[in-house]
Amino acid sequence: MKLVDLHNHTTASDGTFTPEQAVKYAVEKGLAAIAITDHDTADGVVQGMSAGEKYGVEVVPGIEISADYKGYGIHILGYFIDPESPHLTPVLDWVIEERKRRNRQIIRLMQDDGVKISAKWLREKFPDAVVGRPHLAAALVEKGLCSSVQEGFDRYLSEGCKYYLPRTYLPIETAFQAIKQSGGKAVFAHPLQYGMEEDRLLELTRCLTDAGCVGMECLYSGYTSEQSDYLMSIARRFGLCVTGGSDFHGSRKPHIDMGVGTGDLRVPYELLEGLRKR
Ligand code: AMP
Ligand code: FE
Ligand code: FE
Ligand code: ZN
Repeated sequence: MKLVDLHNHTTASDGTFTPEQAVKYAVEKGLAAIAITDHDTADGVVQGMSAGEKYGVEVVPGIEISADYKGYGIHILGYFIDPESPHLTPVLDWVIEERKRRNRQIIRLMQDDGVKISAKWLREKFPDAVVGRPHLAAALVEKGLCSSVQEGFDRYLSEGCKYYLPRTYLPIETAFQAIKQSGGKAVFAHPLQYGMEEDRLLELTRCLTDAGCVGMECLYSGYTSEQSDYLMSIARRFGLCVTGGSDFHGSRKPHIDMGVGTGDLRVPYELLEGLRKR
């Protein structure tokens, strides 16, 4: 069976593989296609696609954009986008400016505690990346405040912790517009990651579908087959196609591997075909 992985991060956001390394790794994993879906940037897509041609793997140009729904930070995947679209770049520039503003504030909190960190140090450390909390967590590991990115989140950067500051998210409509106008197809990412009760989840799915969402990521690292079946029943109800991906981040999320997730993920190529037809 031909397999794919439609959710991967690279060094353009918070993954540790460059786009080319990710594509090479997809070959090793025997995948027929991968999508590159970095947070709030399509900067890894061009490099990924030319690596795809070189190594003979289909690379789907993608993105993962965070947007606000009633105070929840919802992740929307966009597939088949034009990474250089004039409809996409200004929106992403706004997001990146907002991130920089927040990063500077978080860095100030750390500096006030005597952590030897600066915006310049972070930029030099992660030159190609849209920097966010995962990089700040990695910095805390390097500075000896904790021993893993996970611990950095748990102790310092998760909501309620002393270095946590919220981000201002794009409105849902803006995220969908940017994806659609740049030629992309929007998919609701990892629907069980928001801690929502069923009523809320259905209400959100309705809202996203009305905004132009065409798919739901029902297969995802760590989701049991019961959970995936449950999500597929919701997708069917709303006329959404089913997609799947691991959310590979390289060594920044070492428990997740490309293609197989936490071990048992399998995403058939037909799901990519189904998405393409939408
Ligand atoms: P940010 O967009 O800067 O707020 O960072 C959010 C990203 O951090 C998510 O997309 C995840 O990749 C990562 N993340 C969030 N919570 C955790 C956690 N508890 N452990 C590890 N990574 C996390
Ligand atoms: Fe991430
Ligand atoms: Fe996500
Ligand atoms: Zn992701």
